[in-house]
Amino acid sequence: MSKSPAIVWFRRDLRTADNPALCAALARGGPVIGLFVLAESGPLAPGGAQRWFLHHALKDLSARLSALGVPLVYRRGDAREEILSLAKECGAGAAFWNRRYAAAEIEQDKEAKTALAAAGVDAQSFNGSLIREPWEVKTKTGGAFRVYTPFWNAIRALGPGRAPMPAPEHKAPAAPRRPTLSLGDLRLLPAKPDWTHEFSKHWAPTETGARAALDAFIAKPSKRYGEDRNRPDLPGTSRLSPHLAVGLISPVEIWRRVATAIDAGEVPDTEGWKFLSEIAWREFAYHLLYYNPSMATQPLRPEFQAFPWRDDPAALAAWKKGMTGVPIVDAGMRELWRTGWMHNRVRMITASFLVKNLLIDWREGERWFWDTLVDADPGNNAASWQWVAGSGADAAPYFRIFNPVTQGEKFDPDGDYVRRYVPELAGLPPETIHQPWTASEQALRRAKVALGRTYPHAIADLGETRKRALAAYDEMRGNSQS
Ligand code: FAD
Repeated sequence: MSKSPAIVWFRRDLRTADNPALCAALARGGPVIGLFVLAESGPLAPGGAQRWFLHHALKDLSARLSALGVPLVYRRGDAREEILSLAKECGAGAAFWNRRYAAAEIEQDKEAKTALAAAGVDAQSFNGSLIREPWEVKTKTGGAFRVYTPFWNAIRALGPGRAPMPAPEHKAPAAPRRPTLSLGDLRLLPAKPDWTHEFSKHWAPTETGARAALDAFIAKPSKRYGEDRNRPDLPGTSRLSPHLAVGLISPVEIWRRVATAIDAGEVPDTEGWKFLSEIAWREFAYHLLYYNPSMATQPLRPEFQAFPWRDDPAALAAWKKGMTGVPIVDAGMRELWRTGWMHNRVRMITASFLVKNLLIDWREGERWFWDTLVDADPGNNAASWQWVAGSGADAAPYFRIFNPVTQGEKFDPDGDYVRRYVPELAGLPPETIHQPWTASEQALRRAKVALGRTYPHAIADLGETRKRALAAYDEMRGNSQS
């Protein structure tokens, strides 16, 4: 008797290589049907920029699966209902997926498992997205970590514990045809205006594109990663984050490739381990998310509930548009809008400007990044915003306030990054490009800059707003103690 079909439910694991759920479904021996369900609203709905990335990643996945005899079915709406109805429609005997770790995702997976079991479908889940799952990494007393360094030591000692699985080669038996939306029906691409028009210059959202990014990183930036990773004006990092966010490549594959390159002397030991320690920040974010399910909406340090955030829609809009009048902040926000990505150092600077100089709630920034980043990630985005705001586990102390001018001068010393994204300041020399308000009238005229006309006056006095932020922090501490 021929075997019943199995469903593979794809989520943040849009790849064929090192995909434990797909391998298990194919190993079972029967026909296999892939399923992708787009959440249209709520906490599981992807943001605008990531929708663009998803469209191309799904197109790539669908072609790869098709070569394996696996059709990819697209549906929209409530994933629990969709997987259940697909299982019934095709008489599936099994369903496989790789686990997720945000509260709403865990709940959805649990509900799906229960509903499938009730319908006689055997549902199995795997680790396809992390080096180690949250419950595998424990403190000496068996608890969860809140501090990064001991977490990193623990995960470094454990390593991935398995080799990456090669992409399957054998075709599955023919699967029954099921009704599906087309990829176009999901309407993942923006129509008018197409604000993503520049994205394809920067990203290749395919498995091959992800692997090419890793190869390119190992070939060059990895050699000076420790130094150059902080320089937004240089190509000093891997730009793997959007690929990791939708799972075009697995962290296990990245870890193994880099560890092997270190052993082979292809990547210097210190640089290679520094890079893997950043991969471990992503793991740490998922660890925090798993043990703090409301991390995207509630401060991990409860005293921050009493923080006196300001409501300032005009300043928030200027920040989003990259029109604050502070060059490195504007360059970062415009890089984000144009490319769907922002350099990590500049993410820290722009986020700090929002929550400290403008005193605007970090959740506003988190939401904007969620909508505009191609790498929007439920663990990293929330954990990083809380880190900058000072409300997170092992966070930067609130009273350490970045000065965007000195940050710019240090990490974009010639001003090239600002020139790339804020062309109206391109004529200014390195000495004033990060603080045009200090340039002489003559220098401004020479550079064709008219403050308040061709480029805005700074919306915040950096010294005064620093003092205001420290006072707000003291007020919060007073409030939380009373
Ligand atoms: P590389 O330096 O090449 O690092 C390799 C990988 O390690 C990254 O792809 C990423 O997975 C991980 N990594 C590197 N730095 C960090 C970090 N500081 N924290 C956690 N993981 C890290 N990253 C996201 O993937 N999604 C987000 O939504 C996100 N939001 C952020 C919001 C703020 C306010 C800040 C300050 C940081 C945020 N980050 C986020 C973390 C970081 O900025 C990006 O992961 C990094 O810039 C990606 O570029 P890369 O792949 O070239 O990094």
